[in-house]
Amino acid sequence: MSDTDGKKTLGLRGGPRSGNVKQSFSHGRTKNVVVETKRKRVVVPKPSGSKPGAGGGTQGGDPSKRPAGISDAELERRMKALSLAKAREADEAVQRAADEKARDEERQRRRDEIEAKEREEREREEALKAKVEEEQREKREAEERKAATAKKAAAPAAPEAKPADPAEAQAAAERGGLKPARKPDRERTDDKRDAKTAKGGERDNRRSGKLTLNQALAGGEGGRQRSMAAMKRKQERQRQKAMGGHAEREKVVRDVQLPEAIVVSELANRMAERSADVVKALMQNGMMVTQNQVIDADTAELIIEEFGHRVVRVSESDVEQVIEATEDRADDLKPRPPVITIMGHVDHGKTSLLDAIRKTKVVAGEAGGITQHIGAYQVTADNGATLTFLDTPGHAAFTSMRSRGAQVTDIVVLVVAADDAVMPQTIEAINHAKAAKVPMIVAINKIDRPAANPDKVRTDLLQQEIIVEKLSGDVQDVEVSALTGHGLDTLLEAIALQAEILELKANPDRAAQGAVIEAQLDVGRGPVATVLVQHGTLRQGDIFVVGEQWGKVRAMENDQGARVKEAGPSVPVEVLGLNGTPEAGDVLNVVETEAQAREIAEYRHQQSKNKRAAAGAATSLEQLMQKAKDDQTVSEMPIVVKADVQGSAEAIVQAMEKIGNDEVRVRVLHSGVGAITESDIGLAEASGAPVFGFNVRANATARNTANQKGVEIRYYSVIYDLVDDVKAAASGLLSNEIRENFIGYAEIREVFKVSGVGKVAGCLVTEGVARRSAGVRLLRDNVVIHEGTLKTLKRFKDEVAEVQSGQECGMAFENYDDVRPKDVIEIFTREEVERSL
Ligand code: GDP
Repeated sequence: MSDTDGKKTLGLRGGPRSGNVKQSFSHGRTKNVVVETKRKRVVVPKPSGSKPGAGGGTQGGDPSKRPAGISDAELERRMKALSLAKAREADEAVQRAADEKARDEERQRRRDEIEAKEREEREREEALKAKVEEEQREKREAEERKAATAKKAAAPAAPEAKPADPAEAQAAAERGGLKPARKPDRERTDDKRDAKTAKGGERDNRRSGKLTLNQALAGGEGGRQRSMAAMKRKQERQRQKAMGGHAEREKVVRDVQLPEAIVVSELANRMAERSADVVKALMQNGMMVTQNQVIDADTAELIIEEFGHRVVRVSESDVEQVIEATEDRADDLKPRPPVITIMGHVDHGKTSLLDAIRKTKVVAGEAGGITQHIGAYQVTADNGATLTFLDTPGHAAFTSMRSRGAQVTDIVVLVVAADDAVMPQTIEAINHAKAAKVPMIVAINKIDRPAANPDKVRTDLLQQEIIVEKLSGDVQDVEVSALTGHGLDTLLEAIALQAEILELKANPDRAAQGAVIEAQLDVGRGPVATVLVQHGTLRQGDIFVVGEQWGKVRAMENDQGARVKEAGPSVPVEVLGLNGTPEAGDVLNVVETEAQAREIAEYRHQQSKNKRAAAGAATSLEQLMQKAKDDQTVSEMPIVVKADVQGSAEAIVQAMEKIGNDEVRVRVLHSGVGAITESDIGLAEASGAPVFGFNVRANATARNTANQKGVEIRYYSVIYDLVDDVKAAASGLLSNEIRENFIGYAEIREVFKVSGVGKVAGCLVTEGVARRSAGVRLLRDNVVIHEGTLKTLKRFKDEVAEVQSGQECGMAFENYDDVRPKDVIEIFTREEVERSL
């Protein structure tokens, strides 16, 4: 029934419109299906095959070309033979051409095949995925339909509908999924269905292509590009194989992360090249380096490009990412001892107190009792609490450590002598502690002295907003005597109590982080740093970066000089195995690899070099001279400082920075730890600087060089003496001060306009004297509006040199006109005054 129905319709419309029939017919049903079908239809009729033998046959049969004297039979035979030969010839030619063509085609086909295969594989995968999804959806729909048709009692329709559905659903999906709902309502012919299924087969292929394109377009171009690239690679591989198989190693282009500086071996590692090759390449570029040397990013970039890789410049902060602090979980945190710094005014007994605590509490007899120059030690209070004391010289170190990001102190013990009072440095210490938000305990020292008046200290402290417990405040105060040992235990108890309140905790089970308390260059052991571990546990063999230095823990000694294998939070240890001397306050971080440590250290070094350069620090004679030329108003006194420990060097440098004013400055060309060496003398000589040795001496060669070159070396063991001497030297460099004296004030009453002169202020001299030659300032509401000189000073009609207080006068400014009534004119003179710091 449906069969005839389809044919009838076809016949009806097919008559007048021939090829378009189907289009119109189908159009009524489904739009796009028809378009595809139509195009296919038009293409289908193919031209008929060639007839190679035909031409020969026709020619051979032509009786007009027959030669004379030959019988018909003979002629026929000959003609046959001829035509056969011709036909064979033609056949062969055609065959050859066909073969050639076939070969070409075959080649082309194979090429296409290779190309297509890759694409097909990918597309098939995608199509398959889409199909599976589609089928699932169709199954669902079919079931719905089945249910619907079952109601209509048209049982066969449902299973039949299935094969046609993919195309339909697909078309529907493409158009927005409107059709499937309508379809089941209409009846279909088997014929149509067959045709559709057949076309559906074709279309499935086309579809799968189309689908992929759609998907590719919808899903972004990444997938498509990748597949193209993969295809090309495959082709290239095949081509190379075909050309003799020298594709032994395919070049992999890598993205090479490049920091500011990189060790050659690490660079090779990142490129996955051999170090030797990289070294060779560097040599070819004129850089003689070994694989353990560091090269800068620009050089490295050149090499990376030479090896055909891509450079990825790592941003500055990335280098340090490996040591970024990780948050500890609350349950990983364990209690740790408090770290205490003793501060106070000079001679109030800081050192004595530290010594007294150490002597009474440190188990004597171990490694000669007290280790020299380890900047910290631990004691045990009577209640069993461990306390870590920092033995840093003064407030300078405290702040400089803080400025480097190392906040190591938990509690400050403020020492005030009971027979003295709150002094400038006491106040300074209080301010430092407050700034660092560190709780304080007041130790009123020298309580054994007859003149001791601890209550005066307590009331003095009130002025600094320190209210001690005895005055009902919340700052603990303890009376002690470093000399007799009185109150020391109470002090330790107070500290332990304060520590308990602070609930100090740290995670011992992580990569160690610590702060350098002191560092020095030891003749026998190399650079040595006293490190206070703050987080984690520092172990022998750990690789670390500390400030601009790095190293591997070769050995560790505790505060009593005993070898230890590990140090946990709040434990001070002396660390050996550094590649250079770090600075007090530098933070130590354990990292995983030596390369990381080097990289970070190198990066920091570069950074600080840049910073110094930016700050215009003069380190060579040329630079110093250039600086002096550029900046003639500032006189500089260059010095070189060498000290026994980093803390002292630091304190001296800070004291030096305080000397001077806008015109004279002390510039520390170099400060360091250890003996004065020849290179120090060289630097000093180049800059015309003296060398200051604090608790250190010059070695023999340095001494000789200094003698020859006339470089002055001065030795000190007291910082204040050194500071005083530098001050004296610096004041010799001071240029005379220009001091201003105010000699008079005048008030403007009226302003006149005088032709040829401009505005003239009619004034009353209210104070002192108005002098024609003096400098003047115009003040309006006490703000200086103008500074300059006078053009005229008139008393009545006469030009005068001076006008006394109480008298009226006329004044006009040189090159300035904006004077108003009620403005005040300040009259001043300048004089040179010789001065000292
Ligand atoms: P620092 O400059 O704060 O380190 O003070 P020192 O520890 O060097 O002490 C300065 C002077 O005070 C030294 O002569 C000590 O002997 C003395 N001194 C320190 N503590 C006491 C004490 O408790 N009683 C007495 N009588 N003298 C002390």
